[in-house]
This record gives sequence, structure tokens and C-alpha cells, in this order.
Amino acid sequence: MSDVPTDMNLGNAVYKTLLESTQAIPWKIDWGTLRFAYIGPQIERLLGWPRGSWVSIDDWVERMHPEDRDRVVGFCVAQSKSGIDHEADYRALKADGSYVWIRDVVHVVRNENGEVEALIGFMFDISERKKNEETLLQLQRELEELSYQDGLTGVANRRLLDSVLEAEWASARRSGDPLSVIMLDIDSFKQYNDHYGHLAGDDCLRRVAQILGSSIVRPRDLLARFGGEEFVLVLPETDLKAARQVAERCRAAINDAALPHRASEVSHLVTVSMGVATAFAAEGGGPFSLIEKADRHLYRAKQDGRDRIVAE
Ligand code: GH3
Ligand code: MG
Ligand code: MG
Repeated sequence: MSDVPTDMNLGNAVYKTLLESTQAIPWKIDWGTLRFAYIGPQIERLLGWPRGSWVSIDDWVERMHPEDRDRVVGFCVAQSKSGIDHEADYRALKADGSYVWIRDVVHVVRNENGEVEALIGFMFDISERKKNEETLLQLQRELEELSYQDGLTGVANRRLLDSVLEAEWASARRSGDPLSVIMLDIDSFKQYNDHYGHLAGDDCLRRVAQILGSSIVRPRDLLARFGGEEFVLVLPETDLKAARQVAERCRAAINDAALPHRASEVSHLVTVSMGVATAFAAEGGGPFSLIEKADRHLYRAKQDGRDRIVAE
């Protein structure tokens, strides 16, 4: 015969020692009276409340964060009534007024007739895990933001532009409002890079983005880098006349900044050409055709001598 003890010969004292030396906190609630039949002494170290103060299920409910209470109590009571084992995460109130994240893992004990007799469970301190989760979520949010941002200028990138255009097009179709876009391209930018160097070119792009960003005023307007030295402005609920005014304001602001460009073919300062287009989504077409139209107007502005706006 083996000397290894089976669960048949482990005495109550051994069970008790095992239960009370684990990190997890064991407890038992009698379902008939909804009173604690047992709670591990570890509870006092974790939450600060004396072991003897855990009398009825109300003590558990009251020491739960008010924001978690309805959800957790409702869920646990429903599961227990149906006799289903379950687990719930919630913030438990400590005696010092702070909160600890707990995961409660609950087993429903039934009698021989299948009726619920008791609940036994373990409380785990998961505050460390929750903190990590929060850090990860924060990181994920930051990554999401970054994936919609142009790395060089910090304005929206092409990806965000595409989804905003789609959404604004759908909204304009429903409302019947005009939707305008401005396509903007820096003049003689190749020469700028050749003359001042690529890093100075990057700085110039950042400056232009910043100037354009401060030239749009409505919260729904979007400035995006389309690629290279081209930017797009999306102007919802804006007709052609108003869009042309925005374009003129942008052109004036870039002019006011007076960024030197000694190698430019059109000026001694950095200038831009712009194509403006407006569409009524309700009349058909799609956001792509609106961008194309603005691009054709931009091309005309370049052909007509640059440093100008074509809007029609
Ligand atoms: P145009 O007046 O007809 O617009 O002439 P352009 O020289 O501006 O036009 P083109 O499209 O031929 O050249 C754009 C230049 O922009 C070429 C490219 O090297 C430069 N460029 C594109 N992206 C970047 C960037 O991220 N940083 C820098 N420094 N330059 C860029
Ligand atoms: Mg270009
Ligand atoms: Mg250019």
C-alpha cells in the first residue's frame, strides 16, 4: 500500500490550514439564510474589515463599489438561483476607504434534491492585473490615435481622410447639404528640397500643416495630409462660395507666414496652389469623384501659373 494520503484521510485541520494559507480567500454563504457560514481570515489582511464583520450577504453588497453593485449583485443572484457556477469582477471597499479589484469565483452547491444549498467561492485580488489591463488599453488607444495620424505633420493621415470623407458623404446625402473639399499642393517643392535640403523640407511641411490647421475654424472641418506635399481640407455643410473663402484664408495665412523659398519659380516665398470642389451627395456620385474634381482644379491652378485658387 502507498503512504501517499488520499483526500479520504486528509483531516479537517489540514483542509483548514490549506484554505487559510492560500492567496485566494475562501468563503461560504448559506443560501437559505444568505449569511456567511465561513470566510477565510485572509480577508482582514486584504480589505481591513474584521473577519467577524462579514455576517450576511448585505455586508458583501454594501462593501462593493456603487458603480459595480447593480451589475454584479444582479448577475450573481440570477446565476445562483439558476444553480450556475460563475465569476464576477468588482471593486471591493477597504476599511480605509479605498478599493481593491476582486475576482470572485463562485461554485453553487446543491443538495441531493438538486436545490441550491450554499455558495462557496474564492476571492482573488486582481488589482495588479487590472492595472496592467488599464495600461494596455491606454496603449491601445494611443496606437489607434497614431494610426490615424500623419507621422511627420501630426495632422490626419490618408486613412482617416478616407473614412471621414465616407462618413461626411453619407451625412451630406441624408441632409442635402453641400460638401466641399480643397486640394492643396505646395509650389516648386522639389526645388525647395534641392535648395534647402530634405530636413528643411520636412520642417516646411510641418509649418504649412500648422498654418492650415489654424486656418480652419469649424470643429467638423478636417485637415489631412494626402501624401507628399499635398493636403486636403474636408468642409462639411459648406458651399462653393464659402469653401473658396476658406481657401483664400489659407492662402493669405501662408503668405503672412512669409516662409522663404529662394528657388521657387513663382515667388521668393513658399506659395501653394489649390483646387476647390463642391458636391451635393444627394445628386449622386461619391467622395472619390469629389476629390478627383478638386484635383482637376488643382491641376488647372498649376497650369495657370501656380500660387492661385481654382474653384468652380
Ligand atoms: P509643383 O509646383 O508643380 O507642385 O512642383 P513640385 O516640385 O512641388 O511638385 P512635385 O510633385 O514634382 O514634387 C513634390 C516634391 O515633394 C517631391 C518630393 O521629394 C517632395 N516630398 C514629398 N514628400 C516629402 C516629405 O515628406 N518631405 C520632404 N522634405 N519632401 C517631400
Ligand atoms: Mg505634388
Ligand atoms: Mg508641389
